Amino acid sequence: MSMTGGCYCGAVRYESTGDVQNSIQCHCRECQYITGGSPNLIIIVPENGFSFTKGGPSKFARSDLETPVTRFFCNKCGTGIGTKSPARQGSMIIKVGTLDDPSVFKSQAAIFTKDKQSYHHIEEGLPTFEKRP
Ligand SMILES: [Zn+2]
Ligand SMILES: [Zn+2]
Repeated sequence: MSMTGGCYCGAVRYESTGDVQNSIQCHCRECQYITGGSPNLIIIVPENGFSFTKGGPSKFARSDLETPVTRFFCNKCGTGIGTKSPARQGSMIIKVGTLDDPSVFKSQAAIFTKDKQSYHHIEEGLPTFEKRP
């Protein structure tokens, strides 16, 4: 499935042409910082089908962690585009809110529910995991 997206100000644009590998909502504490408090809604796509088509995003990885994820974001408006994770080699993790059409998202699992807040919504019947599946 071909998808396009970008940041809030339009300086960074991307395209993804590979099949979606997974659609997840992550409730972990780290994601709460990144989203502003909500679960993080993400789709995982093959890295080799993903490319930035406009602008070069800035990157950030914590130096105090052993295997940090690398976060891509727009250095003008600050929108987080997505991450590459050592736990998901060969994949790009995209934040659903940056898609041109976020309505394509359908959560397949809720992960890191050990950090879930009482105001986080999990759809009934959705598989949930304390940490990773
Ligand atoms: Zn921007
Ligand atoms: Zn998370």
